[in-house]
Amino acid sequence: MLLNRKELIVKTNFSQYPIQIGNGLRHEIGSKVAHYQNVLIVTDKNVAPLYLDEVKKSFSSQQSVASFILPAGEASKSMEWYSKLLDACIAENLDRKSLIIALGGGVVGDLAGFVAATYMRGIDYVQMPTTLLAHDSSVGGKVAINHPEGKNMIGSFHHPVLVLYDIDMMATLPHQEVRSGYAEIIKEACLDDQELFMKILSIKPGELIENQGFPQHLYKGMAIKASIVEIDEKEYGVRKYLNFGHTLGHAIETELGYGKITHGEAVAVGMLFAMWVSERIYGCSLPIQELKTWMKHQGYPIDDWNELENQALISRMKKDKKALDGMIHMVLLKEIGSPSVQAIDEKALLKHLQDFRSE
Ligand code: NAD
Ligand code: MG
Repeated sequence: MLLNRKELIVKTNFSQYPIQIGNGLRHEIGSKVAHYQNVLIVTDKNVAPLYLDEVKKSFSSQQSVASFILPAGEASKSMEWYSKLLDACIAENLDRKSLIIALGGGVVGDLAGFVAATYMRGIDYVQMPTTLLAHDSSVGGKVAINHPEGKNMIGSFHHPVLVLYDIDMMATLPHQEVRSGYAEIIKEACLDDQELFMKILSIKPGELIENQGFPQHLYKGMAIKASIVEIDEKEYGVRKYLNFGHTLGHAIETELGYGKITHGEAVAVGMLFAMWVSERIYGCSLPIQELKTWMKHQGYPIDDWNELENQALISRMKKDKKALDGMIHMVLLKEIGSPSVQAIDEKALLKHLQDFRSE
């Protein structure tokens, strides 16, 4: 897993920040943010014993560095932990010139980012992703916590000042978390890069992060996400494409109950369905069977939703943020690299779902 260090610059209307990807970067964070006197590192119970000490050691004795450890898992994106983290910011005397570092997956990044967005009307923060899925969540500035009535209901747009991605930290990730993150890279390839898509399909079973191309796939995926966010920061237009695979994916994730299947694994099934609908609507031909076979070989649990009922899934899809005037807006593909948003009515979608599942 060796990669010459790569840097991407994300430019949005109001901010500009680098994404640095490479080996061993966790040992360098301190010197990269040496101008901050007061730093709070937010992480979770799984990540802390693995990497927190190494990250802390990279700071100089001139800097005050505290840490805050969350329970691992989605439940930490709550009002309760938001409030506790704010208490910690006050207890550590963080001011407007202080820095928060999110060392973890999307859960840590979303919560710590939302605290950074709101504490003293917004302070700087750095994303240090430790999961593969967080290549997606750490870029684009969406930060949020959940409400009992819905995921990411309370949030903001607040970009980090730096994304520092030490890919060596992926080595300790459980397999299903690796699959989850790779599914989002496949999504990015589907939206913009046929060559990347084909390269991913050539990865041998069980070698997702072991394959030599992994760092390059990650870099390209992040570059695609960054380029979409640059054009449409607040999701009025092309940013919607990033929901490819998420219409059915979200429905499966919520119907099965969080934790049964990872987000990316559910999106993987959602992408197969979206491709299938694309063929029906646009008359195009997509590599669905190849992707499905590859997913099976890589251990994606693509049959775990077999027990779920079509009507229940359709109801979930209707509740999706993307549903408007009774129509469900799905991201489809005209070919790999060419996405399009299509409004589909409930009846037609139900028929597609029935046909897709009976094939
Ligand atoms: P996560 O943060 O819960 O991490 C998954 C699991 O891996 C956790 O148990 C964590 O403790 C563990 N872990 C993390 N790094 C590890 C490492 N290096 N070694 C071993 N274990 C490690 O989940 P996630 O999949 O990273 O992120 C999911 C969250 O991201 C969701 O809440 C989702 O809403 C959010 N998200 C946000 C955006 C956005 O744009 N803001 C985009 C996509 C997803
Ligand atoms: Mg997603």
